[in-house]
Amino acid sequence: YKAKKEGKNQYLFYQDIFSKDHTRRLSYESQLRTAIAKDQLNIVYQPVVNLNNFATQGTEALLRWQLNEETSVSPDIFIPIAEYSGQIMEIGEWVLRNACQQNKLWRESGASKLNIAVNVSPYQLFNPNFPKLVQKILAEFDIPPHCLDLEITESMTVSNNDVFLKTLNELSEMGVRLLMDDFGTGYSCLSYLRQLPFDVLKIDKSFVSDYDTIASTIIAMGKQLDMKIIAEGVETQSNLNILKQQQCDFAQGYFFQRPVSAEQLDVFKIYNNIKST
Ligand code: C2E
Ligand code: MG
Ligand code: MG
Ligand code: MG
Repeated sequence: YKAKKEGKNQYLFYQDIFSKDHTRRLSYESQLRTAIAKDQLNIVYQPVVNLNNFATQGTEALLRWQLNEETSVSPDIFIPIAEYSGQIMEIGEWVLRNACQQNKLWRESGASKLNIAVNVSPYQLFNPNFPKLVQKILAEFDIPPHCLDLEITESMTVSNNDVFLKTLNELSEMGVRLLMDDFGTGYSCLSYLRQLPFDVLKIDKSFVSDYDTIASTIIAMGKQLDMKIIAEGVETQSNLNILKQQQCDFAQGYFFQRPVSAEQLDVFKIYNNIKST
């Protein structure tokens, strides 16, 4: 990402694709406009595993765009395009509503305490009406606020924007949990972190390796700040063993389960006997 400052405190983000491949971006942008209507967006889910009992604590909703039979566009490409064009508002609402609806189905099937994690763009947080929308959707699907996890990428939280901070605080006061995603890749200093109402740190997958001490540093720091820790990108038994030793609370990754459709996911599965393949 390159960041460009607009006005005083607001950050805009765009990928290199924007400057290098202008035509492709415009083509995606216009096709994205009809994606919801054409039913091309869908959500896959990945379990968040509780490392104390290896049960599924919740699931993370990850958006997919099936442009046509051959082409599936990665969210790393189309989310920045949607942010740039403003379509992220509509798409973000669609994801939140559909993920909450699926969570309700899982709850009704017996997973009564299952959390649902949804990634949100900072642009959604620049909208002062966002907390009201969240409240409405939670009510619509009978979900307690503390069972909704909103994930915000760390590098995107480096903003002193007043609306952004007010929205974050309102969500926190509603009881919604706020997760700092991809933690370790941004530049938040400790004092800034303590000012923000985040409940959970998600260690970025680039630090979850057997030879990296950054994960253990983050886990220790999280404990000091009374925050829960989720490690993402757990791919091997050995990754998992190290995180367990360091008393990491939760983990996600291909080692447990790749993101799959709701129908393919068993939210009652206990992951204590899995062997690396
Ligand atoms: P993220 O929120 O940090 O999600 C984790 C990414 O790591 C996902 O990629 C997931 O499929 C992948 N992953 C999970 N386990 C493993 C593993 O063991 N190893 C490796 N190498 N990767 C793993 P994905 O689904 O391609 O999503 C990429 C990013 O796009 C997400 O990163 C998130 O920032 C963004 N994104 C996805 N869905 C949404 C959405 O609905 N709204 C917004 N605003 N952003 C979204
Ligand atoms: Mg995430
Ligand atoms: Mg992210
Ligand atoms: Mg991440």
